[in-house]
Amino acid sequence: MNEYDSNRIYDLLEKKNYKRTDQLKDVDCYILNTCHIREKATEKVYHDVGRVKKIFRHKKKPIVIVTGCVAQAEGDILLKREKYIDAVIGPQSYHSIADTILKIERKCKEINLTDFQTIEKFDKLNLVSNSSSNVSSFLTIQEGCDKFCKFCVVPYTRGAEFSRSIEEILKETLGLIKNGAREITLLGQNVNAYNFEGKKLSDLIKKISKISGINRIRYTTSHPLDFSEDLVAIHKDCKKLMPLIHLPVQSGSNRILKLMNRKHTVDEYLEIFNKLKEINPTIEFSSDFIIGYPGEEKEDFMDTFNLINRIKFINSYSFVFSPRPGTVAANLKLIDKKVSMERLEKIQSQLFENQIKMNKSLENKNLNVLVENLTEKKTQVFGRTEYMTPVIFDGNKSDIGKILQIKIRQSNRTSLFGEKVCSSNKKVA
Ligand code: SF4
Repeated sequence: MNEYDSNRIYDLLEKKNYKRTDQLKDVDCYILNTCHIREKATEKVYHDVGRVKKIFRHKKKPIVIVTGCVAQAEGDILLKREKYIDAVIGPQSYHSIADTILKIERKCKEINLTDFQTIEKFDKLNLVSNSSSNVSSFLTIQEGCDKFCKFCVVPYTRGAEFSRSIEEILKETLGLIKNGAREITLLGQNVNAYNFEGKKLSDLIKKISKISGINRIRYTTSHPLDFSEDLVAIHKDCKKLMPLIHLPVQSGSNRILKLMNRKHTVDEYLEIFNKLKEINPTIEFSSDFIIGYPGEEKEDFMDTFNLINRIKFINSYSFVFSPRPGTVAANLKLIDKKVSMERLEKIQSQLFENQIKMNKSLENKNLNVLVENLTEKKTQVFGRTEYMTPVIFDGNKSDIGKILQIKIRQSNRTSLFGEKVCSSNKKVA
């Protein structure tokens, strides 16, 4: 979602005649869009701002703004400790960024914009078209979270659950198609909690799938509690909906899930898995895991390990628990770091083994690949399978945006390598 937000910030500022650059030494305004999920996120802000300070030591200071969840969670502290920062803007206030820059230019004092103005934000963003020109584009449809998992900052940094209207989402989708999008990933912190005037995520997917320019639809991130029957059913009915489901489980132990306040059990998770596999056996799962959550015993860890072996997630994110300031879990007693690290290694080697096996099983098969871009070498192109696995093969610019049949010749853990399947016109009778 930060990538989506960063692009929208660029869109807002382009209207004010700012041009995007990746040359730090040239900037008039430096915006650091932050993510609080990352470890030591606040320290990284000071480090990055320090880097800018160094570059501009003998030059006119650029405007420095910190946006995103770290700004939301620790705005006042940032402004107090690092005077080089001119403003902090939370994720629900960035629609005001152009006005903020104007205020800074007029020499107003440090600015802290961390109110939850979600409705106002999207009203303003709807007036500025989304300039993303990626074949695979993100589209935020939902923000915020009411679940309050004990380890997570999102309910405090993004606020309560909020859903955008179907009308504005469809309008943005059409704009993205015009820019070249063929695949849309619908985004939300709790994307399957989407509910706009009774219309759910499945209704939205149905509508988007009727738009001819779109070939693939994905959504992320879901919560098991909101995985309703209609959402399961749409995976049977909608051919454009991709068969990879990212559904975080966090732990395979009911005891730990309860301690985390996840509001679902392992059985409920497995029930969703079974229902989806029943209606479409080609569906695969990916997930998130927190290893070494406070109170995790060896048995709890083994439950997670066994769940991984049962579901055979094809791709997952796994981390050792690290406390986030302001969350309930931040005050809990940590388990031995060495034990957590050993458990993480064990989990990851299992996840990686599954991934390697899965990719190996695809060798010599023909797969549908949506081509996204040229690789750095420019003689090859890069695309993704229906399961999001990157595929690299010889191709050129004219392949971008097409779905091509690729014969997979080689694989490693993260990528596949192949060649185009030639279609011959020769006929014989
Ligand atoms: S459901 Fe997801 S976003 Fe919400 S609190 Fe839990 S981990 Fe955070």
